[in-house]
Amino acid sequence: DKIVYSFGGGTADGNGTMKNLLGGKGANLAEMARIGLPVPPGFTITTEVCTYYYAHGRTYPCTLDNDIKAGIAKMEEIVGNKFGDTKAMPLLVSVRSGARESMPGMMDTILNLGLNDETVVAMADATQNPRFAWDCYRRFIQMYGDVVLGVQKLPGEDHEPFETVIENLKHERYGKDILDSDMTAEDSQELVKRFKALVAERTGHEFPVCPWEQLQGAIGAVFGSWNNDRANVYRQKYGIPSEWGTAVNVQAMVFGNTGDESGSGVAFTRNPASGENVFYGEFLMNAQGEDVVAGVRTPDPVAELANVMPAAHATLSEIRQTLEQHFHDMQDFEFTIQDRKVWMLQTRNGKRTGVAAFRIACEMVEEGLIDWQTAVKRIPADQVDQLLTPIFSGNAIKEAKQIAHGLPAGPGAASGRVYLNAERCVEAADRGEKVLLVRLETSPEDLRGMIAAEGILTARGGVSSHAALVARQMGKVCVCGADALNIDYAARTITVNGETVKEGDYLSIDGTTGLVYLGKVDTAPSEIIQVLIDKTLAPEQSRAYQNFAKLMDWCSQATRMSVRTNADSPSQAEAAIAFGATGIGLCRTEHMFFEGDRIDFVRQMILATKKVDRVAAINKLLPFQKSDFKGIFKALKGLPATVRLLDPPLHEFLPQTKEQQRDLAEKFELRVEDIMRRVSELHEFNPMLGHRGCRLGIAYPEITEMQARAIIEAAIEVTEEEGFEVVPEIMVPLVAFKKELDIQKAVIDKVAAQVFEEKGKTIKYLVGTMIEIPRAAVTADQIAETAEFFSFGTNDLTQTGLGMSRDDSGAFLPKYQDLEIVKTNVFASIDQEGVGKLMEIAVELGRKTRPDIKLGICGEHGGDPASVKFCNKLGLTYVSCSPYRVPTARLAAAQAAL
Ligand code: ADP
Ligand code: MG
Ligand code: MG
Repeated sequence: DKIVYSFGGGTADGNGTMKNLLGGKGANLAEMARIGLPVPPGFTITTEVCTYYYAHGRTYPCTLDNDIKAGIAKMEEIVGNKFGDTKAMPLLVSVRSGARESMPGMMDTILNLGLNDETVVAMADATQNPRFAWDCYRRFIQMYGDVVLGVQKLPGEDHEPFETVIENLKHERYGKDILDSDMTAEDSQELVKRFKALVAERTGHEFPVCPWEQLQGAIGAVFGSWNNDRANVYRQKYGIPSEWGTAVNVQAMVFGNTGDESGSGVAFTRNPASGENVFYGEFLMNAQGEDVVAGVRTPDPVAELANVMPAAHATLSEIRQTLEQHFHDMQDFEFTIQDRKVWMLQTRNGKRTGVAAFRIACEMVEEGLIDWQTAVKRIPADQVDQLLTPIFSGNAIKEAKQIAHGLPAGPGAASGRVYLNAERCVEAADRGEKVLLVRLETSPEDLRGMIAAEGILTARGGVSSHAALVARQMGKVCVCGADALNIDYAARTITVNGETVKEGDYLSIDGTTGLVYLGKVDTAPSEIIQVLIDKTLAPEQSRAYQNFAKLMDWCSQATRMSVRTNADSPSQAEAAIAFGATGIGLCRTEHMFFEGDRIDFVRQMILATKKVDRVAAINKLLPFQKSDFKGIFKALKGLPATVRLLDPPLHEFLPQTKEQQRDLAEKFELRVEDIMRRVSELHEFNPMLGHRGCRLGIAYPEITEMQARAIIEAAIEVTEEEGFEVVPEIMVPLVAFKKELDIQKAVIDKVAAQVFEEKGKTIKYLVGTMIEIPRAAVTADQIAETAEFFSFGTNDLTQTGLGMSRDDSGAFLPKYQDLEIVKTNVFASIDQEGVGKLMEIAVELGRKTRPDIKLGICGEHGGDPASVKFCNKLGLTYVSCSPYRVPTARLAAAQAAL
């Protein structure tokens, strides 16, 4: 198999579709070369070599060496320079990682490779620019020393060792900190000397002088970095399997640091924060690409390039159009200008915020760039949440004291206690605090802190800085480059305009405007919530809402499954319907038992020792339950509702402390000892597997009778009062045996017949069951003889199927995820191989008995995009999830159908 793919000079061995083999970067470098964009030549070593490397004790296929030599030879031919040339301008290369999916900042790039004491002189002579040549050389030793040779901060050191050397030199020679770009050739030459000494001291070896040896080391480091800590943390967070591996790109260098006619930048074809269709991005003159992203100097917006170098700006604007026309998506690209000539170094589909994703998708459909199906497919379903997250409330913001502003890099509002490093941020979040991570700039080391934080605030860096990139991807609120902030890591304070903020104090940041406020600022609902739920904003006043609505309409056109909601109250049902739910998939009746005085009657019911007393207490509950159901049926306006009979074990309703028990005894004129006795009688060793679900209704049929009566009476009354038909779906929980369901169905049917007679009116109703016990799944053919519908209770089916209690899994499940024993958190995303298999069996058996059986899912998983996709594959009729997850589930269901 071919393991090295060349690109450049207007052609390429590979192309943009080969991301699995060439990585995202390599595939798109090839694609850009093919469509005639100016790409420096190079070659890509495939991800299969990475896989081979780890499978064979970190060694390479034997043909690799020759392929690399051939690859370099092609580059030499195109560029006209020789690798390692000591007489004329040498060919220098970058060595860049590139996985299938971009992993921002996770892997390490090495620039200017091929320099040594001789080639640097050749380069200085050939370019007549010694400052530039030595600048490249010292950068090379620094990057190579860090990434390949591992010369990094030792425990206890505050600064990167190379940075310390630079700082010392600047202070010795200039008595102050100067910009890197202001250093002279002599400065860089001296740095090279000191860097080499540092490397020798730290590693015990001289810095490698042979370019081929350098190249080999760099390639090894890229493959090695696939398994470093940072990469592992990132992969886990985004569920990227370790088998994928990374490719390595070796590419001829172009130079943004030759002087004032050169520069580097990062740009987006549209604004990735808002989605607006403008050329967006930033650049630095006289800089190599790393400088832009590292946030050391704050770059200028690309619009400014129109003044500095109009021709380059015009070329880039044209490239912007070409990229969108070709890739049909918003692109995030990296460029370098060398002596006024523009070079493209990377392009990829740009990460964007949820708001931007909706806007870009809608506008691209309008522009005819994509069709609506593509628009639906393109929006990551888990980004929908971002459109529903709070913003600062208008009043609170007027009162709040604005202390700084930066770039709006991740929209939304966040308030939290400030922490200046990732570690303390994580600790505080673990204590339950809401935290903001505030840094000069972030680096991949800060990832854990960023995950823990509500929002991220940096003092330096632009919209393509690490902080902005990661925040956008994680959907975090982020403000970056708020340069008025003076952050003192040692004192753990931020001073700004005469104010001092200490670690642990509150700050608030608005990632939509870029403003930073002192203290804690109250938040208000997002525009979409204001339009749909609060009705405080008219639809035509909100562009975000209009885009959202358009997308949701397309979802309805595409979807096969419908989306229902888990709701126990009229207001929840109304919210879910506003989000497009088509009914209730799970109405938990026990939640209603806790409201107001009802809990008293529930407790009387439980404490009753004689059936008559129990029935008396239960009958007092009837009017409450009935009015609850009426409220819900009215809110649903004829949409279907699945109502689950009482599920939790009874002791959950009894007071557990002595004091509460004494109060209860007083209230009901009972002896406290009797209450205590009953509580201890009801105690269970493992309540999850105890006296709950249909086992309650079997032991106390009067409970089922009351609930069935409440449901049927409510349905008849609402049908009569409102003029739409209510068809309740009565669901029996925790069934394992067909007989259990038979017994419960008989009770329900008997009550229904009684109510029909009393009211002189008949309605349709269904009786079905949860499938949440493996035994039920594997005997679903029998159960379907009685059940008219199944609803997969995947929370319990996961607990019972894996024999793993959700409440106790915290002790070991994280470790299981680390070790990839489980691919995902099984309580958030369905374990498709195991629990999913049980579902598949139940679907097949259920359909065998009852071909048109209605099938749904009502566990937490119903709002998880991967699980929704799986449910579509199984052919379920609907998924059901909490009201605010409905839009996510609709999008996921539509995507699954397309
Ligand atoms: P990352 O994946 O972290 O973005 P890259 O491989 O894209 O890393 O490299 C980082 C930066 O290094 C790029 O943005 C680019 O500016 C610079 N760079 C990489 N290769 C070259 C090259 N051949 N010539 C000039 N600059 C380069
Ligand atoms: Mg890059
Ligand atoms: Mg259950």
